Amino acid sequence: MIRDNLEQVQQRIKEACENAGRDEKEVTLVSVSKTKPLSMLQEAYEAGVRDFGENKVQELMEKIPEMPGDVRWHMIGHLQRNKVKYIVGKVFLIHSVDSLRLAEEISREACRQNTDVNILLEVNVAEEESKFGITLEETEELVRKASELPGIHVCGLMTIAPFVENAEDNRQYFRKLKQLSVDIGRKNIDNVSMNVLSMGMTGDYPVAVEEGATCVRVGTGIFGERDYVKGMVIA
Ligand SMILES: *Cc1c(COP(=O)(O)O)cnc(C)c1O
Repeated sequence: MIRDNLEQVQQRIKEACENAGRDEKEVTLVSVSKTKPLSMLQEAYEAGVRDFGENKVQELMEKIPEMPGDVRWHMIGHLQRNKVKYIVGKVFLIHSVDSLRLAEEISREACRQNTDVNILLEVNVAEEESKFGITLEETEELVRKASELPGIHVCGLMTIAPFVENAEDNRQYFRKLKQLSVDIGRKNIDNVSMNVLSMGMTGDYPVAVEEGATCVRVGTGIFGERDYVKGMVIA
């Protein structure tokens, strides 16, 4: 089942690239395995998946040692400063940096471990109250401040678009974030690249790819619906 789902998602990414005149190699599919059991991650790994997305530090800590060493782990969920120390040096990319204080903590821990951490800044493009992330207006300033911190590299921007029935409704937000990333990229800020644009989930990733996503985060479309009972994972 996972293998078939993956093929479908890859096919839709390919089609979206064709629509937009893009090379499909520009797009990384991150398989979002949060709440899913290891057996499903292993199945995905065997089908060729190397990029896995998780949104909880505890779950990452449990899964990382159980999976092969060539997996690239993506931290995509809200990150508390007191948990930074557990994931620095273990994850490939942190997608969800939404404050200078968090960036500073990541920098401190990176220096302590003598390593470098790649981060994206999370932008709440639609300005939904329920979501984390900075506004479009705040982004350049945070990019500049974060770029001065040792041990971290700002690699681009991320957004979680609203939950909508019609993916077309999110096109406007993807387009805005792409434009902002181009604008900031043109400023040639030291230690900043705007190469990564992480946007698009199961409901809207083809639209996100058409609008320039280089990284889509797909969970349900690969692993199926998630089961939550009172906040507990029962999968
Ligand atoms: C859960 C999650 C996803 C994947 O969502 P699906 O709708 O299941 O594809 C993507 N990004 C983030 C930040 C998430 O928390």
